[in-house]
Amino acid sequence: MFDEPMSKHTSWRLGGPADRYYVPADLEDLQNFLADLETGLDILWVGLGSNMLVRDGGFRGLVIAPLNALNEIQLNPDGGIYAESGVSCAKLAKFCRNEGLAGADFFAGIPGTIGGALAMNAGAFGGETWTAVEQLFMLDRRGLLVERNAAEFEVGYRRVTLPHEEWFAAALFRFDRRAAGEDSNIRQLLQQRNATQPIGQPSCGSVFKNPPGKHAAQLIEAAGLKGYCLGTACVSDKHANFIISTAATTSHDVEALIEHIRVSVAAKFDICLESEVHIVGEAL
Ligand SMILES: Cc1cc2nc3c(=O)[nH]c(=O)nc-3n(C[C@H](O)[C@H](O)[C@H](O)COP(=O)(O)OP(=O)(O)OC[C@H]3O[C@@H](n4cnc5c(N)ncnc54)[C@H](O)[C@@H]3O)c2cc1C
Repeated sequence: MFDEPMSKHTSWRLGGPADRYYVPADLEDLQNFLADLETGLDILWVGLGSNMLVRDGGFRGLVIAPLNALNEIQLNPDGGIYAESGVSCAKLAKFCRNEGLAGADFFAGIPGTIGGALAMNAGAFGGETWTAVEQLFMLDRRGLLVERNAAEFEVGYRRVTLPHEEWFAAALFRFDRRAAGEDSNIRQLLQQRNATQPIGQPSCGSVFKNPPGKHAAQLIEAAGLKGYCLGTACVSDKHANFIISTAATTSHDVEALIEHIRVSVAAKFDICLESEVHIVGEAL
């Protein structure tokens, strides 16, 4: 597809057009597509767009969207879970629960894909994506599959360094067996989210990373910004680290609000908040 509005593919419902937008039929189709692709084109992988702000001018290059395409998930005979990058985190959590595996419940409430969770080292309620990752299946710029061990990656808090021009096609996870009588707590974790987060409103979750020993939400609230709006982009009055957009909001508004929060928190507490959300594309 050409000139595809990225507002259709991000959880803020914001963002100008991508020059090209490609949804593969499956992994082999994507490999062939990449093998034939001209060089010099910028490539951006987008999962559920739930941690991404695409600017209003859009993205000059190719977007690859594996959601519902690279969708295979299976339990290997040795107990490992193979999941392709377009599988949703919720599906991984439920698959593991049904297979009697522990440690994947936290994925249930993360509204992203496995590819996005790997790229962000997504985590919640004490769990983190990369603690269970054993092996990665990377796709390179020429469509070749490269197998890598988890130890080859530099992984931190909501941060992973990828080899140049390689992206996650799939991963092999290893979770422990659930102890006899131990229950999945997916339902409780989802309830906890609903109680504390503005679920259902367009956002990208937490905008800022928590600085060491502090909570970004508490700092933003203490800076007097809970509920604060700049244009139609507003700091949530339920969770101060969430920014909520409306149909009238632009990416420019959101970026300006992010900057305003950063400057206000720095002025009041001398702490520089670092964005968790990835900002891509060009301004209008
Ligand atoms: C309501 C709400 C709650 C949230 N709660 C949490 C939470 O509890 N914990 C948490 O960690 N996050 C949370 N998030 C943020 C977000 O859901 C996660 O970061 C998620 O992992 C992003 O996945 P995605 O597929 O949507 O990635 P996208 O937003 O599409 O992409 C994010 C980044 O990953 C890259 N990427 C995507 N796929 C690939 C791939 N296959 N290969 C290489 N790079 C890739 C993109 O290029 C981009 O740089 C929340 C968001 C919302 C809206």
